[in-house]
Amino acid sequence: MRVGAVEGGGTTFEVAVGSLAEGAVREEERTSIPTREPRETLSAVVAWLARRDVRAVGVASFGPLSLPAGRVLGTPKPGWEGTELRQALAPLGVPVALETDVNAAALAEQRWGAARGQQVAVYLTVGTGVGGGLVVDGEPVHGAMHPEMGHLASAYPDRFTGVCPYHGACIEGLVSGPAIAARTGAEPASLPDEHPVWETVAAHLGELAAAVILTTAAGCVVFGGGVVRGRPFVLRGVEASMRRRLAGYLPWAAEASPIRRAMLERPGLWGAFALATRGTR
Ligand SMILES: [Zn+2]
Repeated sequence: MRVGAVEGGGTTFEVAVGSLAEGAVREEERTSIPTREPRETLSAVVAWLARRDVRAVGVASFGPLSLPAGRVLGTPKPGWEGTELRQALAPLGVPVALETDVNAAALAEQRWGAARGQQVAVYLTVGTGVGGGLVVDGEPVHGAMHPEMGHLASAYPDRFTGVCPYHGACIEGLVSGPAIAARTGAEPASLPDEHPVWETVAAHLGELAAAVILTTAAGCVVFGGGVVRGRPFVLRGVEASMRRRLAGYLPWAAEASPIRRAMLERPGLWGAFALATRGTR
């Protein structure tokens, strides 16, 4: 069976087709469509997939989203608020499964990556924003909305006032790419590993990991996103900070090393494949 995967991001929509055999997906072809206004972008996605005879499509999109309807809620991306993603893909005439990018990434890491075998798994991305996806018993969690873990507060002392337009110094406001840029005056990717900001970033992310483990009973927290990718020492700092916060309260967490690096190259896109291969929701 051939399925389509769409990862909607602020800069590009990554679109791929793959074939499903014995529970695994083999990617066959991929394209990158620049994110412009919704109608133009989504009709290019539909046109590309329509030529490839897919039987189902999974979509992992930036949020916030209303699910299962698939409407984009308040977003700073110009023109995208109110966009009906499910409706836009309806011309394909196949089942469409939608999730937030981070919930989809959690699903993919739980199915094929660093969280394999975990009953409860969390994926945290640290990039332009900080977002968290939660999968319980193989199902991405959403209720009133979807989890928004990046906006939790951190108890690690920090005088930086933060950049979140809602909360200032929530964890996203403290350690997202724009927050690091505001702290240091430099793009995060250009900073050397020795820069002191990384210790602060790791400390806050450890606070977040501890809060998430205490709340969800996740067996592991998988980290991805451009800010932490390629800097394994940050995740070691995250682990140390998490342990300081837990203070021995969860002995399993000290033994099992629950902080993990994303294993999949594009967890969001693979999450879309995972969604496509489990039917509509
Ligand atoms: Zn916030």
